[in-house]
Amino acid sequence: MTHILVYVDHVDGAVRKPTLELLTLARRLGEPVAVHLGAGAQAAAEILGDHGAVRILAHDAPEYSDYLVAPKVDALQAACAALSPAVVLLPSSAESKEIAARLALRVGAGLITDAVDVEAGPDGPVTTQSAFAAAFTTRSRVTRDVAVITVKPNSAPVEAAPAAGTVEELAVDFADRATGTRITSRTRRESTGRPELTEAETVVAGGRGVNGAENFRIIEALADSLGAAVGASRAAVDSGWYPHAHQIGQTGKSVSPQLYVAAGVSGAIQHRAGMQTSKTIVAINKDAEAPIFDLADYGVVGDLFEVVPRLTEEIRAR
Ligand code: FAD
Repeated sequence: MTHILVYVDHVDGAVRKPTLELLTLARRLGEPVAVHLGAGAQAAAEILGDHGAVRILAHDAPEYSDYLVAPKVDALQAACAALSPAVVLLPSSAESKEIAARLALRVGAGLITDAVDVEAGPDGPVTTQSAFAAAFTTRSRVTRDVAVITVKPNSAPVEAAPAAGTVEELAVDFADRATGTRITSRTRRESTGRPELTEAETVVAGGRGVNGAENFRIIEALADSLGAAVGASRAAVDSGWYPHAHQIGQTGKSVSPQLYVAAGVSGAIQHRAGMQTSKTIVAINKDAEAPIFDLADYGVVGDLFEVVPRLTEEIRAR
């Protein structure tokens, strides 16, 4: 049986949705084996098993706290040594991409990041991702024995697929402890109650057309009516209207939601790089020639200060 390792992304024991999406993809490729690091593997086993994890390799140690990546790489390397998987799947977060790169180097694997699809092929898994600031959509295959692949959140559905979900202890030797990395301070961001930007099913983004920090309230109101996360173009972020953590694009975050609403965003290539793989794109822009309309599935040519509040009202009324 071909083993497919799925790195479990969890927060204080709660398994995050992108991990369940990875299990959907893993089932297409072979037998999904989840790797759970840190506390809470037994509690997570039910949801992982319900979504197709046949086995759960678990290891808990204080080293996994504090978002340090090296111990996690050690653990995944141990899992690779134990099972010789064909593929290791991780979600495309900043942390997981660092883990993926280090792991690929350690185990001599090929690395593909930011895939939006993974399919089984005759010579191994074939991934789809966009390249060169979304100018091209590429299909790629790793030619080495092992493929380490990070997948953007929202790229696959979450599907129930009951499997054994048996928890097994993973033996890990922390070879790389002397990395010299330690946490010196920590800042907890206030929660807005909105979904995490990269995982949200719907994103409403504002650009320079929003014309001021206070006007982002109408973007937030539309987002709240849809249960969406709020994004911003670099022009809006550079103007100080919205925090950089919400910037979408080449030098911001990359999102792939079911629905992306862009208001007052022109659709520059660097912005597209972060949202082009969204399933449905709605653009609101007063300039009918704005490049965002080349990409949009639905476009409204109009003033966002009229369109967005009316849209919010309409959605709230339903
Ligand atoms: P603009 O291009 O100024 O567009 C504003 C739009 O709002 C216009 O189309 C206008 O018609 C419309 N508008 C104005 N008023 C209204 C209104 N009342 N109602 C409706 N529509 C209205 N950009 C990113 O977004 N993300 C990145 O990560 C990023 N990285 C970059 C990296 C590099 C190396 C470089 C060089 C650039 C990068 N940029 C990035 C910047 C990018 O090139 C654009 O400058 C930026 O995306 C423009 O933002 P915008 O669409 O909000 O502004």
